Amino acid sequence: MKTASILGVHFHAVTMQQAVETAMSRIRARQKGYVVTPNPEIVDLCRRDGEYMGIVNRAVLVLPDGIGIIYASKILGEELCGRVPGVEFAEQLIAAMAKEGMRLFLLGAKPGIAEQAGHNLCAKYPGLVLAGTKDGYFTDPQEAVDAINDCGGADVVFVCLGAPKQERFMAGYMDEIHATLFCGLGGSLDVFAGVAKRAPKIFIKLGLEWFYRLLCQPSRIGRMMKLPKFLLIVIRERLFGGKRK
Ligand code: UDP
Repeated sequence: MKTASILGVHFHAVTMQQAVETAMSRIRARQKGYVVTPNPEIVDLCRRDGEYMGIVNRAVLVLPDGIGIIYASKILGEELCGRVPGVEFAEQLIAAMAKEGMRLFLLGAKPGIAEQAGHNLCAKYPGLVLAGTKDGYFTDPQEAVDAINDCGGADVVFVCLGAPKQERFMAGYMDEIHATLFCGLGGSLDVFAGVAKRAPKIFIKLGLEWFYRLLCQPSRIGRMMKLPKFLLIVIRERLFGGKRK
């Protein structure tokens, strides 16, 4: 698979359809692995933490979530096939899983959210088997490992604990868990449960979902100021090859 390097993170240049097909063939073949969906915040975390960068780059699919990554690829002259937002990948994967009666476990978010998300997804995608759910506020990761194994395992586990917790969990515990594919998906369960709304389509189409989220939640301004800073770092990388600190 072709990759595009953005500040050391190797994104896969795949369309949404290719990403879902790759994921489905790995699940059918029972090839264990995890999927990550880095946004600029995650790339920035990777730059500061080499161990975390290694975890992200060992994913079987590194999908470009967020318009900031697409801007960065254009600035760096790296080729990507457009955005593959985690939450949209998740839903397309569920649609494909439902057709084959596959088992999904939902891990993460506040108590009650994963159950609600599971309920909504099963109603929307008949055929999908909800293997189980667990909230993301456990103190010992072993609790989450046991929760998944005790329900008989799953084909896919959505790990929605926020970054970098979800990527560390997948890399550290995947081998102990009876499941094939793990997907780190941030706040997706809040969206599936209906407690967090995605932006209206026009905002998504214009690449302005971040602006809509800012309007709804002005306290995100601190997080968002990281985006212009990220793009400045990318421009510097393009001009000076990252030599200047
Ligand atoms: N979360 C969790 N356990 C934690 C911290 C966070 O389950 O210890 C959940 C949180 O409730 C939210 C998700 O992880 O559902 C992270 O959402 P965020 O908006 O940070 O992710 P984004 O989609 O912006 O990457």
